[in-house]
Amino acid sequence: MSAPTTHSGAHSGTESGPELTPLIAGNWKMHGVKADLATLADIAGGLSGLRADVMICPPATLIGSSVAQAHGTSLLIGAQDCHPTENGAHTGDISVGMLKDAGATAVIVGHSERRSDHGETDAAVKAKAGAAVSGGLTAIVCVGETAGQRQLGLAERVVLRQLRASLPDDVSPTRVVVAYEPVWAIGTGLTATPDDVAAMHASLRSALMADYGATGAQIRLLYGGSVKPDNAAELLATPNVNGALVGGASLKAADFLAIVRAAE
Ligand code: PEP
Repeated sequence: MSAPTTHSGAHSGTESGPELTPLIAGNWKMHGVKADLATLADIAGGLSGLRADVMICPPATLIGSSVAQAHGTSLLIGAQDCHPTENGAHTGDISVGMLKDAGATAVIVGHSERRSDHGETDAAVKAKAGAAVSGGLTAIVCVGETAGQRQLGLAERVVLRQLRASLPDDVSPTRVVVAYEPVWAIGTGLTATPDDVAAMHASLRSALMADYGATGAQIRLLYGGSVKPDNAAELLATPNVNGALVGGASLKAADFLAIVRAAE
């Protein structure tokens, strides 16, 4: 992925955080068969003239055909998970090299559904992120608190702990993206309030700058959790929000493109 260089857009930098090229990434999860490449084509066809980096992460079975479908457009294709090692006896798993070979340029790691469905720990997520970065992919590292943790006032502590324990050793703006996804907002229709998103993203930015200095100011921070066409503009205009990770709304080209346009 290209460097998220600063640019002059509608959303200003300064106290609202550094101005970085937004990334809008769609996570198709376990949805999609060959017929859905038509949706991908519609998304790719709607991107000309838009400034955001735009990515779809289809199921692994569609990565190769999605790359072919997106050829000649600016649409990036990513993956939803990877194994931390390059090859071996790991039935059903997919390595970074395999994803790269299929044409993916990025991979989501540590999505809350992987953490809960597959018991992935921060250490496992860090290993996957490290494999992604050293293998030449961008790691989109997900962090986020549960409803219970937020109710107990632990949201910031949990999220910063996840951040520090899940990021790879080698952090750079082209290779690492952080997605804040409150677990209770994913697929529920609930979103964090813009104030809560602003507070969490400010904490994430401060932690990144404390740990990585100027590099930390350039790491894109995505918000994820029921981003839809009708709430995207407000969420994307929130300080230190440099894009979105979108689940359900990325399955419909018109909805996803509306979210992409909201980043303009
Ligand atoms: C996600 O899966 O990362 C996500 C944010 O899903 P949704 O947009 O459907 O809440």
